[in-house]
Amino acid sequence: MRSTDQNISKPSASITIKPVHLNSYVAGKPIYSGEQLEVFFPYDKQLAGTVTMANRTLVDDAIKSALQGPKNLSRYERYQILDKARQLLESRQDEFARLITSESGLCIRDALYETGRARDVLFFAAMETLRDDGQIFSCDISPNGKARKIFTTREPLDLAVAITPFNHPLNQVVHKVAPALAAGTPVILKPSEKTPLTAIRLVELLYEAGLPGYMLSVLVGPTSEVAEQLVADPRVSLVSFTGSVAVGKRIAHTAGYKKVILELGGNDPLIVLEDADMELAVTLAAEGAFRNSGQRCTSVKRLLVQEGIIERFTELMVERGKTYRIGDPFDLETRIGTVIDESAAMYLEEVVQKAVSDGAEVRMGGRRQHAVMEPTILAHVPRTTPMVVQESFGPLAPIITISDINDAIEVANASSYGLSSGVVTNDMQKALKAIKELKTGTVNINEMPGYRLESSPFGGIKDSGLGIKEGVIEAMKCFSYVKTFSLPW
Ligand code: NAP
Repeated sequence: MRSTDQNISKPSASITIKPVHLNSYVAGKPIYSGEQLEVFFPYDKQLAGTVTMANRTLVDDAIKSALQGPKNLSRYERYQILDKARQLLESRQDEFARLITSESGLCIRDALYETGRARDVLFFAAMETLRDDGQIFSCDISPNGKARKIFTTREPLDLAVAITPFNHPLNQVVHKVAPALAAGTPVILKPSEKTPLTAIRLVELLYEAGLPGYMLSVLVGPTSEVAEQLVADPRVSLVSFTGSVAVGKRIAHTAGYKKVILELGGNDPLIVLEDADMELAVTLAAEGAFRNSGQRCTSVKRLLVQEGIIERFTELMVERGKTYRIGDPFDLETRIGTVIDESAAMYLEEVVQKAVSDGAEVRMGGRRQHAVMEPTILAHVPRTTPMVVQESFGPLAPIITISDINDAIEVANASSYGLSSGVVTNDMQKALKAIKELKTGTVNINEMPGYRLESSPFGGIKDSGLGIKEGVIEAMKCFSYVKTFSLPW
C-alpha cells in the first residue's frame, strides 16, 4: 500500500501490537473490576488494549474525592508536577507515539508530532503557574474615587470535567488537564472510548510526576453511566468539552448552572487568491487537508481557489498529493494512516460519490479500503454538496472555484461553522479585508487555518463554539474564577 495507484490489499501492519491492559482511575486508585472495553488498531483490527470501565457509583466516588481534597498545592508544587510530567513525556515520546498510532491508526509521523505538541502544553502550563495573574486598580482616579486599592486574585474551581474526542488522543487531553491543574482545579477526565489508552497513560504519568490522586480521575464507561452523569451533576463547576456539534449542543442543554466550554467541529476554508505564492499555497493546502488523515478540527476542509489559477493549482495539488504515502501507520514513511474506523471511511467515500453525482471531478484518490481513505482531490466541487456543507473528517481536498476575495468571503461565511480560516495572498489589502470580514475564531494569512501556539487563544464561533477560547493561558482563566479584594490605601 505505497501509493494511490496501487490496489489497497489486505492490511498488515509492520509490527505486532502487544495489547496494554489499563484501568479507569478514581482519585489515583486503579479500578480493577468491571466490564472491559476493548480497543482495536483501526488498520488491521489487532487488539490494541483493554480498559476496565467505570460505572455510576464510581462517578460519585470520583466527584466526592475531588471535592474533599485539600486543594493546597502551591504554585511551585504545581510547576514541579507539570514540569516533571513534561520531562517524563519527553523520555517516553516513542512509547506514547506508538500508543496513539495503535488506538487511532494515525501514522507514527503524526503521532510523534503530537507528543511534541503535548510536551509544549505541559511546558507552557508549568511556566504559567509561576506567573502572577493578579491586577491592581487604584481607586482614587475619578471624582468619585476613594483612597483604596482593589486587587484581583484567581481561585481554583471546585471541580472540572473534561470530555475529549478521538482525533488527538494525547493533545486534546493535555490541553484540558494541564491548564486545569496549573490553575489548581481538580479534574475528572472522560476520554473518547475510541482512544482511551493514551489518555490513561497520561494520567498515570501525571501521578508519577507527583500529582495527588484527588486532583485527577479518569473514567471510561457507557455514556449514560459516566459522561451524562458528570455533565448533569450540580457539584461540577465546569464542563470543558471538545467534540462534535451534536454532542456539544446536547451538553449545552443538559449541563445546567455551571460553566461550559464547547470546542466543536469545523469546516475551515483555505482561500487561495490569484496573486498567491503557488508553492506555498499547495504546501498549505496539502498539509492542511491531509495531515492527521484530515482528522483535525482545523483541517482544511474547503479549498476556495480563484478562477484564474484553478487549473494550475489543481495540477500542482495532484502532483503534491501523490507524494503522500498511505498505508501501514507504523511505517515512518507513511504520511496518511487510517481514519478512526471503517464506518468513518465509508462515510467519506459516500460524500465523495455524492459530490461526483453533484458535478465534482475526482482528480486523485476517492476510494477507501477498510479504514484507509485515500488522499482525495476533487475539482469543480459545487458549493452545496454535503462534503463541503457538513464537516467531512478525513483526507479530502475539495476545490471550489471563487471569482474574487468578496466571493471567497461570502462562500466561507455561508458555513454554519466558524472555527479557523487561512488566506494565501501577497496583497495586504485583501489580507486585511479577510481578517476583518471572515466570521471565524482565527484568520491566518499565508498559513494553515490550524496554525497556533499551544498557549495562544484558540476557539471558534457559530456552530464551532461559543467564542470562549482555549490554549493554555485562556484555558487557565476558564478553569479558575477571579476574586477581588480591596484595602484602604
Ligand atoms: P464526539 O462523538 O462528539 O465525542 C466526543 C466526546 O464526547 C467523547 O468522549 C464521547 O464519548 C463524549 N460523548 C458522547 N456522547 C456524549 C453525551 N451525551 N454527553 C457527554 N459526552 C458525550 O466527537 P468525536 O467524534 O470523538 O470527535 C470529532 C469531533 O470533534 C469533530 O467534529 C471535530 O471537529 C471535533 N473537534 C473539535 C476541536 C476544537 O477545538 N474545536 C478539536 C478537536 C476535535 P464516547 O467516545 O464514549 O462516545
